[in-house]
Amino acid sequence: MRWSFSAHRSFRKCPRQWFFRTVFANSRARDPVRREAHRLSKLEGIQAWRGKIVDSVISETIIPSIAWKRPCSLGDAERKADELLAVQRAQRMSRNGESVFFEAEYGVPLTEEMFSNARAEIHTALENLYVAEPVWSVLQQAKTLVPQRPLSFKHGTATVRVVPDLIAFHTARAPSIVDWKVNRYPLRDYWLQLTTGAIGVSRCNPHRDWPSSAAQHNPHEVELLEVQLLKGDVRAHVISETDVYEADDFISISATEMELACRGRDAKDLRPDDFPVASDPKTCQLCPFRKLCWRSGA
Ligand code: SF4
Repeated sequence: MRWSFSAHRSFRKCPRQWFFRTVFANSRARDPVRREAHRLSKLEGIQAWRGKIVDSVISETIIPSIAWKRPCSLGDAERKADELLAVQRAQRMSRNGESVFFEAEYGVPLTEEMFSNARAEIHTALENLYVAEPVWSVLQQAKTLVPQRPLSFKHGTATVRVVPDLIAFHTARAPSIVDWKVNRYPLRDYWLQLTTGAIGVSRCNPHRDWPSSAAQHNPHEVELLEVQLLKGDVRAHVISETDVYEADDFISISATEMELACRGRDAKDLRPDDFPVASDPKTCQLCPFRKLCWRSGA
């Protein structure tokens, strides 16, 4: 059983959606329904897309520029974002004649206003990043910066996967984890996601490109920063050993619920109908698997 924070969120909203995404979708399956599930799993709404553009600009342009000591100005970052927007928009609208925008798949007209709002929010996010002092303090003091690194560790019978937006290793103290969000309505459970990142960096096998000084630290020693880029808020989460135990318990309970939902059956013997549907119909409005779920016999 693979557990991640996003899988947990999906399972809580709708066990069937979780099944479609994490078990059923397969691009190489003989079953065309499973291939279709894989295609649908790649759909992305404009809001999620603009968040990924921000992730890409920070991870692939701004952070490397710090490591290479070639400063990237806000103007440079915004120009890079505009380039990515234009290129990816064209690719998404033309890929095999099928858009990979969720809205287009489900008949929501994509308007110029939606794209210009996305661009404006990307610029706001980058502008707020450039004035976020606590973040720059971490970026400038760190010995090594590692963006978007998947970490995995064993947790009972589950394998936990977590991808912190940034791990900053320091010379004489525990690392920092920075997660940036481009959400209009921030969720409340980011401390748990960040704590899972702290557990990940403490328990996974050190990666080859981590500095030798990156001795293993206890999760509660890791500095955790949540950056709300649209609001310009930076929140430091201080966690205790008890918080780490709670996060461990949380993962165990969540992973067990997923295992129980599969009732010990092999993944290939499970079908979407074996899983309960969302309790809130609003969840279905944003679900990429709606056309499969609502088609009988999926
Ligand atoms: S359409 Fe609704 S019930 Fe079906 S998988 Fe999606 S969220 Fe769940």
